[in-house]
Amino acid sequence: MGLLAAAAILTGCDSQPATVKMADTKADAAAKLKASRAAKVKAAAKVKANELGQIPVLMFHRIVPKPATTDDRSPEQFRADLERLVREDYVPITAAEMVAGKIDIPAGKHPVVLTFDDSSPSQLTLNEMGVPQKDTAVAILKEVAAKHPGWRPAATFYVTRDMFGKTVREEQAQALLWLKDNGFEIGNHTRDHLNLRGRSQKEVEEQIGTIAKQISSLSYTNPTTIALPYGNQPRHKDWAMKGKLYNHKGAFLAGYTPAPAPFSKSFDAAGIPRIKAMEKKGDCAQFCSAAWLDWLKNNPDMRYTSDGDVRTVAYPKYKNPYLRKSFATWSLPY
Ligand SMILES: [Zn+2]
Repeated sequence: MGLLAAAAILTGCDSQPATVKMADTKADAAAKLKASRAAKVKAAAKVKANELGQIPVLMFHRIVPKPATTDDRSPEQFRADLERLVREDYVPITAAEMVAGKIDIPAGKHPVVLTFDDSSPSQLTLNEMGVPQKDTAVAILKEVAAKHPGWRPAATFYVTRDMFGKTVREEQAQALLWLKDNGFEIGNHTRDHLNLRGRSQKEVEEQIGTIAKQISSLSYTNPTTIALPYGNQPRHKDWAMKGKLYNHKGAFLAGYTPAPAPFSKSFDAAGIPRIKAMEKKGDCAQFCSAAWLDWLKNNPDMRYTSDGDVRTVAYPKYKNPYLRKSFATWSLPY
């Protein structure tokens, strides 16, 4: 204001010279920016945003009426899993979105990543019109989303050569293109589902590269994330990340904790933990989904909570030392 008043006196008339007008607009813009940042900080604090908090990445296999192993879920169990997530304010994002830090969910909500391994028909079977068969994973995801407006049925499907039970090239293309068209992510789970631990770099590249090429030629999509069979990393973990035919932004393991936020220094893109979907019993008393969701509910300071703005990383100032340098320009401490 002082500057403007002085300029007006110097020119001796009411009309301001162009340079002053420009300064005025610039000051306005700066003030607006400051006000909007203050508003963002206030809003983030109000919902207790915690974008350096942990994210559960849930691991599913088959969805079958009679679970044969502890990896299987029945349609009823899977529905209940999803209903719990809805109730506890989780919104699904894909694995690719997580590793890219593109966590676009409403303020106060928590991200969850739903992953499906082994590309079995119980996850995706379509009729000739492209409609999912009842009680498949995709049908249940869509059903729950339809019941809860705003709840997005996002998920990542980690594909092997099994290709949802399809052996004809055109049918494989139909399955993958349907996933892509419906907003689901197609990830790499290696061609033959071998344990990569102890194998040569050539074998690792062959296992990951050949299925990447097949996925790309069928669906015009290059997978950006991989789930390692049995959760085992190759001798050099980077072999799973980068090869002649692939360039992954994230590699997912099999157990046994929630994952650090991609904005946190604790995040390791080459080894992101997942949680098996299962009740608190036996081996799952502590380290599967029911137990961890209880824990995250009881420890909200540990859990990722969004501020609703995809372009900021909002968190209590106390956590500042954990912010990854590459996200410094997005940071919104409060
Ligand atoms: Zn698997």
